[in-house]
Amino acid sequence: MNIKLLVKKEVASLKAYEVEDFSGIRVKLDAMENPYTLPVELRREIADALSEVAINRYPDPDARALKALLSDYVGVPASRLILGNGSDELIGMIISAFGGSPGLIAYPAPTFSMYGIIARSLGQDTMTLPTTDDFGLDFDGSLKAMMEMRPKVIFIANPNNPTGNLFDSDKVRRLIAGSGAIVVVDEAYYSFSGETFIGELDEFPNLIVLRTLSKIGMAGLRLGIMAAGDAVIAEVNKVRLPYNINSMSQRAAEVLLSHRSAVDAQVEMIVNERERLYNGLCALDGVTAYPSKTNFILFRVQGAASIFEALKKRGILIRNMDSPGPLSDRLRVTVGTPEEDGEFLDVLKELIG
Ligand code: PMP
Repeated sequence: MNIKLLVKKEVASLKAYEVEDFSGIRVKLDAMENPYTLPVELRREIADALSEVAINRYPDPDARALKALLSDYVGVPASRLILGNGSDELIGMIISAFGGSPGLIAYPAPTFSMYGIIARSLGQDTMTLPTTDDFGLDFDGSLKAMMEMRPKVIFIANPNNPTGNLFDSDKVRRLIAGSGAIVVVDEAYYSFSGETFIGELDEFPNLIVLRTLSKIGMAGLRLGIMAAGDAVIAEVNKVRLPYNINSMSQRAAEVLLSHRSAVDAQVEMIVNERERLYNGLCALDGVTAYPSKTNFILFRVQGAASIFEALKKRGILIRNMDSPGPLSDRLRVTVGTPEEDGEFLDVLKELIG
């Protein structure tokens, strides 16, 4: 039987999100993970807490204990939060609730590829908003495109992935105010940028702010956080699967969030190391690095695709962003430990020789 004849046409034309095989990789700098493991006492505390979890029961569908801690962490009442199995799941819920049949989903380009993949898999059309040469928002062009095309949902990753820059907050604010759409400000990298739209939720009922615990050391738990006004929360809750956050993740995140200083100290090390890595890249002949407000750095180098492969052969995995257009000859490296970054810089220097 030819499955291609049965699959939805929107899915048939998709390309699955690619994750590199990392067997044989010693230095993993591809996925914006926190390179540090947790202090051993904290790991023991998590193990103890997990041993008490009643996994014969369904998890708390409202994750009340965890939401109480997250409410303090994010700075909004628990009633204005929805949790997802990673923010990826929340992106899907938002599109399910606010897309159309079909609807149009917009985002600046280049940006995080999952907005487009999830939108198309849910039968939505997609459009890109124009950006400037330095990866900023072309505000007039974006507003014009939006007025013509009337997207239902707009995703703005702030700071943006893979470019690492924050958008001008005044332009984003004016976009939220003038769009007539749901605007999702995805703050996956908030801990490294310090800029947030959380304080704007009262003013803009069409605003959704996304956060994730993935980049600050809990990628394996899969916990995304959405904050929004009551009306948006009520609609998105209708499409959320009842037990979407498993009880092990809930409990482990509760323990971790009760020890925020351990996580905060790691974030501070990563931010300091980001500057060292950036300076190291800038010092290499033939490399142009872009300033970053995240835990990764985009850079340009001639022959990027073959440099990426050569690094991989040496056990160093970064992300190849090279494709025709604004990302041609661009690679993206996640900030690692000083040792990992030092090794990456040494090998890169050797390769561009
Ligand atoms: N948003 C952005 C902008 C991202 O870069 C990523 C991860 N690459 C995500 C969301 C997804 O994160 P999560 O692990 O929470 O699904």
